[in-house]
Amino acid sequence: MPEGDTIFRAASALHRALAGQRVTEFTSVFPKLTRVETDSGVVGRSVESVEARGKWLLMHLSGDLILLAHMLMNGSWHIYRPGERWKRRRDDMRIVIGTAKMIAVAFTIQVAEFHTAASLARRRVFNQLGPSLLAEEFDVAGAAARFRLQADAEVGTTLLAQSVVAGIGNVYKSEVCFACGVNPFRRVSSLSVTETVCLMTTARKFLQMNVAPSSGERIVTYTGMRRTTRRVDPAEALWVYARRGDPCRKCGAAIESRKQGIDARTTFWCPVCQPATGEAEGQAVATKGEPRGKP
Ligand SMILES: [Zn+2]
Repeated sequence: MPEGDTIFRAASALHRALAGQRVTEFTSVFPKLTRVETDSGVVGRSVESVEARGKWLLMHLSGDLILLAHMLMNGSWHIYRPGERWKRRRDDMRIVIGTAKMIAVAFTIQVAEFHTAASLARRRVFNQLGPSLLAEEFDVAGAAARFRLQADAEVGTTLLAQSVVAGIGNVYKSEVCFACGVNPFRRVSSLSVTETVCLMTTARKFLQMNVAPSSGERIVTYTGMRRTTRRVDPAEALWVYARRGDPCRKCGAAIESRKQGIDARTTFWCPVCQPATGEAEGQAVATKGEPRGKP
């Protein structure tokens, strides 16, 4: 599943490419979407804005029409100039939205719906989204308090629950827990306030660190490299994710992994830096604010 930073990048790139322009072309393989084009017209409207909320992408069109899309596991949005050759197969195309200057193509996205503001407010899952970690007005204390309400749940599972705080995917779930010295299998109720605040601020920081890539601006897919360690070597970009059996970058212990939650998403952690019970002596305090390693 894409992390919040991927969706945020996609929304920003689409906003820059399309906002303020009139739609001149709309095609889709989804019958529900093409019906809206037939019935009330997508072509002729203008793109007002494109934004990310949690892992959802919203394209606001004039006349109270909103395209709601979710990239799920392997969806992506590409932006092309008219006539430019696509970098993915036509068979993978799901939606094309064109203006005189730019063409946005969604490939292999699985969820896409048109809404009015009113129907969007009633949309299940979407209307239950927690505060977005990438929102400018993100309230850390409020999000931490919201997080702590999930007392009986495990920390790793709760980090992935978009209804609590929106934006964290499976990679950052493990990375954030490591940076805060928190074992992802602990109950939320065992967390100190400091640890909870660390999880929220670190999650936001990791997402922000990965929002502005140096390249790939016009193609936004799940496969973009992400980094949490601030190390230059791409092989050292992450602390624990997908490093089962490898030595911990901090203490040298072998990184462990285990499936977690009803969705059985794999979680990675260091058994020494992130002890299973209670507070990791001084860890949360030591890592508060800045994760290990200098920029
Ligand atoms: Zn360690």
